[in-house]
Amino acid sequence: MKLSSKQQIENLSKFKSENYLTTSFYLNTDKKKMIKKEITLSFKNLLKNNKTQLEEMEISEKKKESLSKDLDKISLFCSQHLSSNNFAGLAIFSCTGQDFWQLINLPSSPRNRIIFDKNPYVSPLSVILDEHHRIFALTLDRREAKWYDIFMGEIVLLKSLIGDVPSKVKEGGWKGFESKRIERHIATHLHDHFKKIAQATFKLFKRNHFDWIFLGCSDKYYSNIKPLLHPYLKSKIKGWLKAKPGDSPATVLKESQRLEKELKKQEEDEIIYRLVSELEKGGLAVSGLKKTLRSLNRGEVQTLFLTHNFSKPGRICPKCHFLFVDELKCPSCQRKTDKSMDIIDEALEAAMDKNCQVRHVSAPLKLNKYGKIGAFLRYKI
Ligand SMILES: [Zn+2]
Repeated sequence: MKLSSKQQIENLSKFKSENYLTTSFYLNTDKKKMIKKEITLSFKNLLKNNKTQLEEMEISEKKKESLSKDLDKISLFCSQHLSSNNFAGLAIFSCTGQDFWQLINLPSSPRNRIIFDKNPYVSPLSVILDEHHRIFALTLDRREAKWYDIFMGEIVLLKSLIGDVPSKVKEGGWKGFESKRIERHIATHLHDHFKKIAQATFKLFKRNHFDWIFLGCSDKYYSNIKPLLHPYLKSKIKGWLKAKPGDSPATVLKESQRLEKELKKQEEDEIIYRLVSELEKGGLAVSGLKKTLRSLNRGEVQTLFLTHNFSKPGRICPKCHFLFVDELKCPSCQRKTDKSMDIIDEALEAAMDKNCQVRHVSAPLKLNKYGKIGAFLRYKI
């Protein structure tokens, strides 16, 4: 099954077993960025580490056996199917004791991890879903219009329309009188054609929840349709496609993906610029692991920024769940803190639990100077 909707995530998070725990497994399988050998090695290491962790866990034998079987099944699945998998990521949720197994192919890479918990750990799925925009693409000319729904690398034709605008006349009649009349006649038809397109666009847009509109038409046709479009629709137009109604869906998809990538990069540049300027003037922002964890513990964080695939060990207070880089004793309750294999992962989970926004920064160089992690704050104590 492919990740495609919030509903899917909600259904998955409803699964709960009274007697057993669930294994949630995430693997980056992006063959554009890694060779097969690297992917195999990373899943083997991940499973090995978690097998060790499982042995040390203080839970009933029955629970342990079910989790151990989960890991075996996942291992078997990966060794059989990874080479034929063409998705950027893979998620598996398993609870052998309850006969539960669900596999989800992901359109972008998650952080590698295994989590044992009562429920399936679905936050990374929400992060991926939020990264993708639902795009409404419209290609049009004086004869035709086509509307598409584009989401997570897939394109669906929603509607197509062929107008009845007569073709242009080359020669005018007597002293151009005839040609003027025909021109007016064509102009009326053209106006009706664009009006129909504008109306259909509004109807389709209302019926679906799109984030962005991409238009594929020449400047001339845009100036025809622009006055007819609802102001709300105009505000949603995010870019121009080099595509015409005659182009194949594959071409429209490719063009849209190029544009989406460009827009996302632009968006990321802008938000990082805002973060850096806030940091430099000492405003409502922090950077670096120590300071960011402190703000997270205090509930000050509004948006958490992380460099993609950044991970580091740290410590957690078992009582307050506060996160630390190296505190052996929790300053708040004085308890001894526990070791965490990956404190960044804990920070991500804590941020999501507290309803903070999380942004994965794909251009790592931009945050390196700031300790690979930072946040916008709601307030500062
Ligand atoms: Zn504590």
